[in-house]
Amino acid sequence: MNTLPKCVYIGLGSNLDDPVAQLKRGFVALDSLPASCCMRRSSLYRSAPLGPAGQPDYINAVAELETALSAQELLAQLQAIEAHHGRVRGGERWAARVLDLDILLYADVRMHDAVLTIPHAEMLAREFVLYPLFEIAPALEIPGAGNLKQWVERCPARGLERIE
Ligand code: ATP
Ligand code: CA
Ligand code: CA
Repeated sequence: MNTLPKCVYIGLGSNLDDPVAQLKRGFVALDSLPASCCMRRSSLYRSAPLGPAGQPDYINAVAELETALSAQELLAQLQAIEAHHGRVRGGERWAARVLDLDILLYADVRMHDAVLTIPHAEMLAREFVLYPLFEIAPALEIPGAGNLKQWVERCPARGLERIE
């Protein structure tokens, strides 16, 4: 546990079992994380799936938290929420899932080890991350990668649709 709270951004995604309801429940679960407080939530967005063909569309969003959890503690908490939502791991990469919670940014941390890459390795190429993040944090600086705005401007929307 850290003493001073850190500002972190979490990416949420679901494409199974009523994804809109899954994301709303996901936000509620983030609200009740220990030593943490949910500061902002983006709108929900609909995006085309990555990975294996034939999956339903995804619903995505981003949340901003203040947390005193370490990045490792936060990942463990997020994985516990995913499991509580019935997510089963071990299948194909990017397979359909009821809830995915990724740590996008953790304060100004840059790290890469066997369990955690921060900033999230793919976030700068994903419209379903960049657009909702920009909605809640338009002036954000990405550690090691400059301002968020330039990444949003370079990233095609690929049909991403803001739904509520
Ligand atoms: P992607 O990471 O490309 O979005 P995914 O979310 O489908 O794919 P998962 O199966 O949910 O991938 O997670 C695989 C592993 O990624 C996790 O067990 C975790 O250790 C690791 N991981 C590395 N960096 C992060 C991060 N920033 N946030 C969440 N998980 C991470
Ligand atoms: Ca993910
Ligand atoms: Ca994940």
